[in-house]
Amino acid sequence: MDASRLQGIGMTSRRTRERLAMRLGDAGITDVHVLNVIRQIPRHLFVDEALASRAYEDTALPIGHGQTISQPFVVARMTEILIRYGIPQKVLEIGTGSGYQAAVLAALVPQLHTIERIRPLHTRSQALFRQLGIHNIRQRLGDGHLGWPGAAPFDAIVLTAAPAIIPPALFEQLADGGQLLAPVGDDRGQRLIVYRRLGEEIEEEAVEDVSFVPMLEGTQR
Ligand code: SAH
Repeated sequence: MDASRLQGIGMTSRRTRERLAMRLGDAGITDVHVLNVIRQIPRHLFVDEALASRAYEDTALPIGHGQTISQPFVVARMTEILIRYGIPQKVLEIGTGSGYQAAVLAALVPQLHTIERIRPLHTRSQALFRQLGIHNIRQRLGDGHLGWPGAAPFDAIVLTAAPAIIPPALFEQLADGGQLLAPVGDDRGQRLIVYRRLGEEIEEEAVEDVSFVPMLEGTQR
C-alpha cells in the first residue's frame, strides 16, 4: 500500500466515517468511545482497494480466502458489550481476519491478543497494524480453539468466527468477572451470546441473531 492511499483518507473519508458513526448511533450504538473509534479508524484500508468505496457502508465485505470483514454495526455492538463493565486490560480475539475489529479494540484497551488461522490474512493485518502505528496488538498464526495459554487469563475474549459450541479452553482462559462474546451456531442460524464468568459459574445472555463465517479447525499455511 503506498503513502497516497494513506493520505487519501483526507476529507472524503473523514466525512464518510462521520456519516457511518451517525448511522450506527441511529441504529442503537450508544457508547461514545466506540463511536469515536469508528470515526478514527480508516476501514477502507482493511478491505481490498477495489472495495474501498464501499468501506463505510454498514455491510460485511469479502476479504479473500472465503472470509469477510464484519459489518460495522456488529463490530460496534460487540465492542460496546466488551467494555460495558469497564475497560478490560487484556483481551483475546479469535479470528483476526482483516484486522479491523482488532484495531477498534486496540484503540480502547491496553493489550489486545489476536489469533488467525489463515497465513495470508495474518501477514496482511500484521503489516497494516505496523503501518497504522498500532503497537499494542500481539498476533499469532494458529487455531483459536486452543486459545493463547501463555498469555491467559484474559479479561475478555471475543470470537469473530462462529463455533457450534464454545471451545472449553477458552472458558479456562477467561478471568473471573470476565466476558466471553461469541456468535454460536451453524449455517442454519447463529446467535451472538455473551458469557460472564463469576467464580466457577458461567452466566449466559443472548444478544441477537448474527451471521459470521464458521470457526474452523487447524491452521492454513
Ligand atoms: N475480526 C475480523 C473478522 C474476520 S472473519 C475482521 O474484523 O475482519 C473471521 C476470521 O476468523 C476469518 O479470518 C477466519 O479465517 C478466522 N477463523 C476461523 N476459524 C478460526 C480459528 N479456529 N482460529 C483462528 N481464526 C479463525
